[in-house]
Amino acid sequence: MKIQYLGTAAAEGIPAIFCECETCKRTKLLGGKNIRTRSQAVIDDRLLIDFPADTYAHYLKWNIPLDKIKACIITHSHSDHLYPAEIQMRSAGFAHINSGKPLTFYAAESGYNMLADAVKKYNISENDINLKLIKPFESFETEGYVITPIKATHDEKSSPVIYAIEKDEKSLLYANDTSELCEESMACLKALERPFNVISLDCTEANRPIVPYIGHLNFNKCAAIRDEFIKDGIANDKTIFVLNHFSHNGINVIYDEFEKIVRDKGFVTSYDGLIIEY
Ligand SMILES: [Zn+2]
Ligand SMILES: [Zn+2]
Ligand SMILES: [Zn+2]
Repeated sequence: MKIQYLGTAAAEGIPAIFCECETCKRTKLLGGKNIRTRSQAVIDDRLLIDFPADTYAHYLKWNIPLDKIKACIITHSHSDHLYPAEIQMRSAGFAHINSGKPLTFYAAESGYNMLADAVKKYNISENDINLKLIKPFESFETEGYVITPIKATHDEKSSPVIYAIEKDEKSLLYANDTSELCEESMACLKALERPFNVISLDCTEANRPIVPYIGHLNFNKCAAIRDEFIKDGIANDKTIFVLNHFSHNGINVIYDEFEKIVRDKGFVTSYDGLIIEY
């Protein structure tokens, strides 16, 4: 299984659109891995996770085979993860697609409703875009993966989920836009009976000592979650832990600084374009 991170920032991006803070100014000067676009990832070049407005930029930069991809799973309906107007570009006259199969979006209630509104507004055929409503804790199969959406602790109105993605012996937990999981979600994870190969966590606040709201994490909380996951058998000492989804408001969030701080503690810092194959 291969995950490629396409976008690794929180909603504003780094540098943040319209921002004059020191982090954003320094990021622009440093460039490289310090530049982060909005959240998206792709598994094995065939399963897309999230659909932000930056999808087009990712397609250009990483040559993602968007014409071939037939499935996209949506974590929640915030605009840095779902930009429904763009689906019009996959309809007749805007794209010429030879494979014949629609692109299917799997989304929980809020994202599903936003996508359904776009389908209606732009009169998109189900031969081009297909929608499936998913529910937390109800596994489904697509493109050869068994996918379990698990309730995230994030803005309820956005119907937030994280995803356990399994194929044969390989597994990935893709978990951002969540703070610590509720009991029901922890029970669901334990019931999957895996140490996951890769666990990708929200680290929106980086080294900020306190997370001032519910819905995201900082590094200290990620480290505590790793300990808990190992204790519960959700992870083991071979699990690759990746920190992802960074905000310019985080402390030490510049990649070049943060990566050094967490590397010794056994964490990988995501960056746009990072590929992990396992
Ligand atoms: Zn986000
Ligand atoms: Zn800024
Ligand atoms: Zn969000």
